[in-house]
Amino acid sequence: MRGVRIDLHTHSSVSDGTDAPADLVRAAARAGLDVVALTDHDTTAGWLRAREALPPGLTLVPGAELSCESVDARGRRMSVHLLAYLFDPTSPALVTEQERLRIERRARVRTIAARMAENGLPVDPDDVLEGLPPDTAVGRPHLARALVRARAVGSVQEAFDRYLATGREYYVAKADTPVETAVDLIAEAGGVTVLAHAFATKRGPTVTPETIAALAERGLSGLEVDHPDHDPAARARLASLADELGLVRTGASDYHGTNKPTGIGCETTDPERFEALLDRAAAAGGGGFAVAPVGGAWDGYRP
Ligand code: AMP
Ligand code: FE
Ligand code: FE
Ligand code: ZN
Repeated sequence: MRGVRIDLHTHSSVSDGTDAPADLVRAAARAGLDVVALTDHDTTAGWLRAREALPPGLTLVPGAELSCESVDARGRRMSVHLLAYLFDPTSPALVTEQERLRIERRARVRTIAARMAENGLPVDPDDVLEGLPPDTAVGRPHLARALVRARAVGSVQEAFDRYLATGREYYVAKADTPVETAVDLIAEAGGVTVLAHAFATKRGPTVTPETIAALAERGLSGLEVDHPDHDPAARARLASLADELGLVRTGASDYHGTNKPTGIGCETTDPERFEALLDRAAAAGGGGFAVAPVGGAWDGYRP
């Protein structure tokens, strides 16, 4: 197991990454990864395409990053991202909720684009959504890219900083899934959940340790500790919280292609910890996964 490199959080163009799923798995292999999880926001549309293009020796962990909400220390509603792995993507309650979220995302992008256009920014709502099928999860990065294309900003990051980040003029909230419900939905679908970038302060308010403890109680399996948006203090706090609550510590790049500066594999998960996550998945049923169309991808993993 030594030397096995594992990245458990990446995005393709079926959500807000820029690599097609097939290109993403090739990039993972080129970066020397042995295991990569595809975790697009609110969609599993990339699984089969990634699976079909899987380079020899690379294992694909099918996953998703679910858009959820919780409350911060002052009781304010806040956004939470929940990574989910090895669940049955045909689980009816989950399918219904993901479809609802994608429809909501589309309406929101249209609302923001219309507001930008009204205020004279060079964005056309139809252009932003052009060619993106319903199983694609659209979001603020699509608007950010439209602004980059129109040369209204120099980068996706600048678009967030000036217009789209939480609290900026064009930020619009969406009705995400209560995080407890999302943990339940994935457990019912035989998968496991890991709380993504929980202490990334640059993304806005963060969840409290009490919320994390309650989620652990409810069935959460892990905490993403090593993430590009976590400083050393955040990593240390999350690591001790994970140990205290019996949660698996993970590490991952949150790769988004050219939408973010982080390279695939720039942060990784320790192989022993990955094994622990697999044990939790097996305990959760994992069988849900065996009926999934990409089950074969999993069989490929040999530590
Ligand atoms: P959305 O899902 O539409 O709310 O957009 C959220 C996505 O935008 C995240 O998954 C990140 O990819 C990106 N994002 C969110 N906040 C920021 C930020 N402050 N700076 C850069 N990218 C961000
Ligand atoms: Fe994203
Ligand atoms: Fe996220
Ligand atoms: Zn992500």
